[in-house]
Amino acid sequence: MNLDYDLIVVGGGHAGCEAAAAAANLGSHVLLITMNMGVIGQMSCNPAMGGIAKGQIVREIDAIGGYSGIISDKSAVQFRMLNRSKGPAMWSPRTQNDRVRFAWEWRKTLESLPNIHILQDTVLRLLTTDTDALRIEGVVTGLGSAIRARAVVLTSGTFMNAVMHIGDKQLGGGRAGETASHGITEQLRGLGFRSGRMKTGTPPRVDGRSVDYGQLEEQHGDNEPTKFSYSPTTKPLSQQLSCWMTYTNPEVHDILRTGFDRSPMFNGRISGIGPRYCPSIEDKIDRFADRDRHQIFLEPEGWDTVETYVNGFSTSLPQEVQVEALRKVPGFANARFFRPGYAVEYDYFPPTQLNLTLETRLVKGLYFAGQINGTTGYEEAACQGLMAGINAHLMLKDSGPFILNRDEAYIGVLIDDLVTKGTDEPYRMFTSRAEFRILLRQDNADLRLTPRSHAIGLADDSRMRRVERKLLGVDVLTTALRRESAVPELANEMLVPRGTTPLRQKTKLYDLLLRPQVRFADLAHLVPELSTILEGLEDLDSEIVEQLEIEAKYEGYLNRERDVAQKIGRLQHLQLEPDTDYSLFTSLSSEARQKLNQVKPSTIAQASRISGVSPADLNVLLVYLGR
Ligand SMILES: Cc1cc2nc3c(=O)[nH]c(=O)nc-3n(C[C@H](O)[C@H](O)[C@H](O)COP(=O)(O)OP(=O)(O)OC[C@H]3O[C@@H](n4cnc5c(N)ncnc54)[C@H](O)[C@@H]3O)c2cc1C
Repeated sequence: MNLDYDLIVVGGGHAGCEAAAAAANLGSHVLLITMNMGVIGQMSCNPAMGGIAKGQIVREIDAIGGYSGIISDKSAVQFRMLNRSKGPAMWSPRTQNDRVRFAWEWRKTLESLPNIHILQDTVLRLLTTDTDALRIEGVVTGLGSAIRARAVVLTSGTFMNAVMHIGDKQLGGGRAGETASHGITEQLRGLGFRSGRMKTGTPPRVDGRSVDYGQLEEQHGDNEPTKFSYSPTTKPLSQQLSCWMTYTNPEVHDILRTGFDRSPMFNGRISGIGPRYCPSIEDKIDRFADRDRHQIFLEPEGWDTVETYVNGFSTSLPQEVQVEALRKVPGFANARFFRPGYAVEYDYFPPTQLNLTLETRLVKGLYFAGQINGTTGYEEAACQGLMAGINAHLMLKDSGPFILNRDEAYIGVLIDDLVTKGTDEPYRMFTSRAEFRILLRQDNADLRLTPRSHAIGLADDSRMRRVERKLLGVDVLTTALRRESAVPELANEMLVPRGTTPLRQKTKLYDLLLRPQVRFADLAHLVPELSTILEGLEDLDSEIVEQLEIEAKYEGYLNRERDVAQKIGRLQHLQLEPDTDYSLFTSLSSEARQKLNQVKPSTIAQASRISGVSPADLNVLLVYLGR
């Protein structure tokens, strides 16, 4: 057995898989150690990827060369583009997935990468230098191996000192059927790290054959499904499974209340902070006592199983209360449980202890990614893994870091939020967290990020060529639209029935496209040359037209966001020394001194986003920098 690697990734969840794959594809020799190889890439909770803001993250991961998008496409059972009725900044792709296939596709992918070895074992301890300047040197496993590496990415998810709760029963373990991991938290605290406790929960799974679907409302996938990955290796679904919708009622709520005295949520046995935006059903009926119903979605777990996921009914109440209450929900009178819902409490490390590369400040070469950083969700975990894997590799090669700005990617927003502001409740991504969300759309993730990733050698040439063809296509069509004009006689036949002002004189096609009522296809009817150009664009035609229409119709908003981003970008480059001692800056407010010392921002722009650092404090820093 090889006992020396460039990089060790601890954990085979969403963060660990992406971290290992990215570093290996860049050329590092990677060992992925995980407690149970049978559940690599496991979806611990709902069998779905993407959704609002999260779908944009999956597209970004794909554009950079990660695998979450490809694997989601390959294992999808349903595809929907959410928020189609809103502006394109809000469109968010989401797949319902086959849980087993998802995990299996991850396993196959990792096994196909020559630079990755996989080891089933538990990491008990990290090896570090014994000096003041701590540096990672490897790990020690439960089976007694000491394995050396110059970088370690820790992605332990919900497993560290994890305790599961169902009613008054408590079980050690990070996920049903799996054990917890002990030792690392205590060691890291001994080295000076701060840790905290969070919790999350999951709903019951039922036998789909015991559900009366006649009482539920069917939710189909999109009529014309698309997909996550920009890569031609995956195809949109040709067949889809439906989801189903129903509601709780006052009778259900009354039964659930009978279990409150045995609920670990209410009797103080759970101390960890849970996800506010993903509350348990008992939390919902407690917090929103005036509401007499809550929505429940029934989601298929895969193509080849009858197991069904009861989304919206996450709970840690006693099992018999779960069964009795669910059976009062329309459609569930005869529901047979496969698995009860439960909650899990676990250790996390406040992410303000990290640099923007996700390397810890205390131990050089040690990176944290995923739920260990206080986030929740597969997508949030996967993108951190990708970034940690890339940055660990770059550090080993003495190359500069790979950091995405807030106007470049949701991933940039997420990491900046975590490192700068920290989080004391499970952090999930929302579009509202991104101040440049019109720039950060799901349709243009490849244009934003593939060139950046190609420059460091991760996104391959074929991905880059695709981006170049797309950009060229948009350019050629834009030039044609700016050159060609429509004459009133022809154009008005199309414009008048749509209720938009008729033309009095020849008008450039581009100006017509700015109108909300006019689509590119309408213009192609007026000027056949456009159709000829489009045919030459082959497989990318629909993406190019979509890009062109968004760029034209939202031109004003886009330019405004780009202007603001550029202004902030100028501040972005004003570097602050990482070892600056802000307590010496007597002109700063005492809160700013404290927060700046805690976060140690690397730029003025990052300092400006720390709550408690005022514009007056920024002026002090600018004076210090000689501006
Ligand atoms: C019960 C439950 C409910 C959840 N509910 C939701 C929800 O409602 N919404 C939501 O967005 N997210 C939810 N999640 C969270 C979601 O599963 C995580 O966000 C996501 O899986 C985190 O990915 P990760 O890679 O950080 O960690 P995980 O997917 O947890 O993977 C961690 C991996 O590390 C391995 N590991 C841990 N310690 C060691 C060690 N010492 N040595 C070797 N291997 C180790 C584990 O075996 C595992 O493979 C839930 C999770 C659970 C368990």
